[in-house]
Amino acid sequence: MKRAPFLCLIAAALVMALAGPAAAQMAAADLEKIPAWLAESETYGFGVGLEALSGTAWKFITHVPDTAEFLGEARRRGVRTFPYMTFYQAYLAMTYQDFRLSDHPDWILVNTNGRWAPTGFWESEDAKNMYCTCPNVAGYADAVLAYLEKVMKRGASGIFLDNVHPNRECYGENFGKHKHMFPTQVEAFADLMRRARELIKKYDPDGALLINSADPASLPAEFWPSTDAEMSESYICTWVATDRWGDWHKNWNGLDKKVPAGKQVCCLSYLGHDTKHSFKDDAYFCYASARMMNFIWGAGYDKAKVGDDSAMRTLYSLTVGQPTAPETVVDDVHYRLFKNGLVTVNPTDAEKTLKLPAGLPTPLLWDVYEEKEVGGQGGPITLTLPPQSGRVYLFKPSSARDREHNQHQLIVRTQPSLGKTRFELDGQPMMTYGGRWTTEYIKGPNYGDFIAGFDAPGWHTITLVDEVRKEMLVANSYEDAYALNETKMPGATAGAARAPDRLGKYMDPSEPGKVFEGKPFRFAGWAGPVKGKKKTIRVYVEGKTEVTAKFERE
Ligand SMILES: [Zn+2]
Repeated sequence: MKRAPFLCLIAAALVMALAGPAAAQMAAADLEKIPAWLAESETYGFGVGLEALSGTAWKFITHVPDTAEFLGEARRRGVRTFPYMTFYQAYLAMTYQDFRLSDHPDWILVNTNGRWAPTGFWESEDAKNMYCTCPNVAGYADAVLAYLEKVMKRGASGIFLDNVHPNRECYGENFGKHKHMFPTQVEAFADLMRRARELIKKYDPDGALLINSADPASLPAEFWPSTDAEMSESYICTWVATDRWGDWHKNWNGLDKKVPAGKQVCCLSYLGHDTKHSFKDDAYFCYASARMMNFIWGAGYDKAKVGDDSAMRTLYSLTVGQPTAPETVVDDVHYRLFKNGLVTVNPTDAEKTLKLPAGLPTPLLWDVYEEKEVGGQGGPITLTLPPQSGRVYLFKPSSARDREHNQHQLIVRTQPSLGKTRFELDGQPMMTYGGRWTTEYIKGPNYGDFIAGFDAPGWHTITLVDEVRKEMLVANSYEDAYALNETKMPGATAGAARAPDRLGKYMDPSEPGKVFEGKPFRFAGWAGPVKGKKKTIRVYVEGKTEVTAKFERE
């Protein structure tokens, strides 16, 4: 068995040697393949510290510091990190990605009028003194790749490359400002991405190039081969709107059909700005919408403003697994089955019910949003989905069903509940529960009852022994309760034996907090499936069967 991988390697090498160009094509396709950990990721961390990892299913974090200390520590803990980079813009008068643009004004993209091109965010995000950089200039391309190599050496698994929208033409050559390597800006940018990804793979064969054009549906085809994961930024929720934005059907659902097979998308929802829906409802709606496409989901929000963000911690902890079926739409409700559960989205303004197909791995589901069980009655499960809602359900193995033993339960009660009352069940002694000790005496949920379990249905004989029930001895402490039983409490420190009459008190069996006053209880008859006043009865036990012995105070 151990030799198998080695043999596979030889076999692969042989195929390469013999098959020539076809094998080379296959290798090229392999190069474009995204790493398995990314393909299987479900949620991710966005701009957070390593302390945020606890309790999450994250395999990676983006927007992390580029320091050796951070990147090294993250790698040591087994989480992949992606520091931020851009090949689009830079600060003129600050060192950024290890260079100062003021030292290299010839790297700045040039407008039709021969002037430096200001960043597109100059007005909208007040990004003053930032300029577009020209990816077509050899010196600039080498500089950003040198910085990328540095963060890879420090332990990064790649970079999060922002602003992948180099649509602007550069007239640098026309005005003699710099020389271009490629005829078009798209070719230049695609080549820079290719080189960046090769560099990432050189240091981490399982590394990845994560990019953000904000809209995967319109990413130029030239950029996909070097992309492991694109980003859908402001996915459904954004910081520039007080409601969910876009059209769910047109903009958000079905995005997976506009992305090349095998590539991944990170959805980023900015929560906490929507005044029409709760933070939790938005979180679940965005999560379920993204996971419906098997995309990776994360959120950005201000914890100080949001307050209770437990909904996020719950969603980040989930491992729903890979899809086992395509997205399905029934009566405008979308759902998809995964290895460990399912997600639903009701994008309509009406409450909907969804009847799930038969044959789910378990007949019971855990509703993560409501924190309760659904189904389990046998037959298909029907879910009730509020308008404009996203939900996630996990398959839940029941602890009760398919139990091997004691499926048929006989519960014999006393009324009023009388502790330590003696019966016989099929000729053998049984006694009702009479309370127990922790740091105080507790009656407990089964006080005054006894319970018997059977593997098969059948007839059983119950005889009441204590026709008259008098005082009940209640121990003074946990330790005294052991001593009453003539055994020693494990770990007990008090060594000397005490007089039995000092170990407990004689209490009222119906109210063990009260001292017995001398008036006993007398049997008054049976209630339940068998009635009457005979001491001995026969009961057929199937499923849960309850019989009550009624008593009256004399
Ligand atoms: Zn240029």
